Amino acid sequence: MNLPPCEKLPVTPLQKLEHPLFDRRNLQVWVKRDDLNSPPGFSSLQGNKRHKLHDNLLKMLQQKKKGIITFGGAHSNHIAAVADAGAYYGFKTVGIIRGEELENQPERWSHTLSQAHQQGMHFHFVCRKAYRQRNELAYQRLWQNRYPNLWLVPEGGSNPFGVLGMETVIQQLQQQRPDWTHLFSAVGSGGTLAGLIQATSKLEDAHQKNLIGIATLKEEQALLNSMNEWISCPETVNWSLQPSPYHTRYGQTCSELQKVQQWFEHQFNIPLDPIYTVKMVAGFLRVLPNLPSGSQIILYHSGGLQGRF
Ligand SMILES: *Cc1c(COP(=O)(O)O)cnc(C)c1O
Repeated sequence: MNLPPCEKLPVTPLQKLEHPLFDRRNLQVWVKRDDLNSPPGFSSLQGNKRHKLHDNLLKMLQQKKKGIITFGGAHSNHIAAVADAGAYYGFKTVGIIRGEELENQPERWSHTLSQAHQQGMHFHFVCRKAYRQRNELAYQRLWQNRYPNLWLVPEGGSNPFGVLGMETVIQQLQQQRPDWTHLFSAVGSGGTLAGLIQATSKLEDAHQKNLIGIATLKEEQALLNSMNEWISCPETVNWSLQPSPYHTRYGQTCSELQKVQQWFEHQFNIPLDPIYTVKMVAGFLRVLPNLPSGSQIILYHSGGLQGRF
């Protein structure tokens, strides 16, 4: 294994967006390009998933484990990231994948699964009923007993170590634009937003920062419950969760979202993924009329571009 224990993640660009829509309201807007944080040749070890894995990898080393076992669906950016991490650093990866019908039928595998398999990930396909238990300790213990030498990471990489790994993003922003006032992020399981809140709460000017999460998959209440487990002092920062701007099921899109994606990609030449970052942008555009003049806004590009396949 060639995992350097204190590896620093690359500093990604903070790209300014120029548009009359922003000038008219005296807003400055940047995109934090964490879609560009992958190592050369391992394009799926990227985005917020790379941050969430970082401290999990440190923990894996510390516990003298030989690799990672984790959970995901057929299009999971996290599965793609773990498989690439295993190939890049040279450790074993096992994925518990939703959908027993995919067993022995590689011709039905998604792009994500085929890539992960190529990178050496070993799969176990389980039925939807079993997969629903993925966050239960008893179920996780079954897999842990089967693979005692692997570090178990929950779905999406969201655990206390994943949350901790998001701190680097805030540290980079403090170097690049310390007077930012608003940060928008897409929210799936809530681990990413929790980490951004937790790290921001430690800043001296924390009370001047606003974090806005745009829910993409779960209802806000369910998210708040899990996020509360990960944040220790949420009241020092202003943060809120906005409902998903358009109601679509996971993996589905609608014409309004497609329009937002086309507009944004055409205006700024920055690619978005159809599940998360396009909803983050749509959520930002929706609240834009209410943002105070002079705001310095950062849109967190959490990556996920492999989802475009
Ligand atoms: C997984 C993912 C998210 C959601 O992150 P959570 O920590 O689960 O909330 C957002 N954006 C992209 C691109 C993702 O892959």
